[in-house]
Amino acid sequence: MKLQVHRTYNFNAGPSALPISVLEKAQQELIDFRGTGMSVMELSHRSSTYEEVHNQAISSLKELLSIPDTHEVLFLQGGASLQFSMIPMNFLHTGEKAAYVMTGSWSEKAFSEGKLLGEVYQAASAKEGNYRRIPKLEELQYQTGDAYLHLTSNNTIYGTQWKDYPDTRDVPLIADMSSDILSKPIDISRFALIYAGAQKNLGPSGVTVVIIRKDLLEKANTNIPTMLKYSTHVKNNSLYNTPPTFGIYMLGEVLNWIRELGGVGAISELNERKALLIYDVIDNSNDFYVGHADKDSRSLMNITFNLETEELEKKFLHQAKQEGFVGVNGHRSIGGCRVSAYNAVPIEACQAFSEFMIQFQKANK
Ligand SMILES: *Cc1c(COP(=O)(O)O)cnc(C)c1O
Repeated sequence: MKLQVHRTYNFNAGPSALPISVLEKAQQELIDFRGTGMSVMELSHRSSTYEEVHNQAISSLKELLSIPDTHEVLFLQGGASLQFSMIPMNFLHTGEKAAYVMTGSWSEKAFSEGKLLGEVYQAASAKEGNYRRIPKLEELQYQTGDAYLHLTSNNTIYGTQWKDYPDTRDVPLIADMSSDILSKPIDISRFALIYAGAQKNLGPSGVTVVIIRKDLLEKANTNIPTMLKYSTHVKNNSLYNTPPTFGIYMLGEVLNWIRELGGVGAISELNERKALLIYDVIDNSNDFYVGHADKDSRSLMNITFNLETEELEKKFLHQAKQEGFVGVNGHRSIGGCRVSAYNAVPIEACQAFSEFMIQFQKANK
């Protein structure tokens, strides 16, 4: 008999919801992984059983994102935050500058790390107006010969998202896609490097996905520690040292789940419907709910909004919690409300929350 399990409406910003079928499979396989008599966590990372898990996860990601042969997939550690440093360490050469587009707290952190390691400047900033918008492509100011242009594709805290990316020609384009990777199809060939902490859209925390164009490696700085060189991990298929094996296994299972759903195209359609359920309530609320982001910059992953007064907002958040909606508080740095509707958040959760918003407005007009 299958026990009725308790699952909450999880809108956490990260770590965030995982597909229930993936959790159940992991549970089933936990004690005896594919006849080994061990869990996947207890296997040697040099064993053929683990290697199959590892390589399968890499090839699934290549397949789902249509990653061309010009690019490598890496599984690293240290989170997206370590990438803030590894990128300038490897690719910001003396005498060159790197350009950063400022669209929120994560871009600021990436920029600060770049500043510690070399010469960086801002190609554009949306700070004025508290990061409500994504700069227009024509606003970006960078130069041929720059080491790279860095942007944050989805701004988890402010709830904005790039809809189109700049064509930077010879300047390598680097993107932090931590909070929208695999949520929609993208043309990988336009990017020199993409990185993402797994814990929002891909799996549990502990794994960082890096998709890197191979020719970039030839130009990389060499006077850096072995573990912090991308080339080390490329040469060793991300098995230079012990990788986060359980996280990579989970990531592989999340990718299988996406494939079964119909791939990135199908998940993208679903994500649009999910976000619209909530944006529609905001837009039809007569400013009872006020969205933080400009409409043309809105994120489909993180929906940020405020209520008229702080008091009403408190009441809203309190009731949401009572109704079983988890993670709706805005980030501690900006407050307000935020619904994170990543890939694994079911549409039913967004439906239920939109109904809650309508009811709350009726009761508090
Ligand atoms: C969550 C997040 C990060 C930080 O990721 P860590 O894995 O915790 O270092 C960086 N960038 C963006 C866009 C994020 O959403």
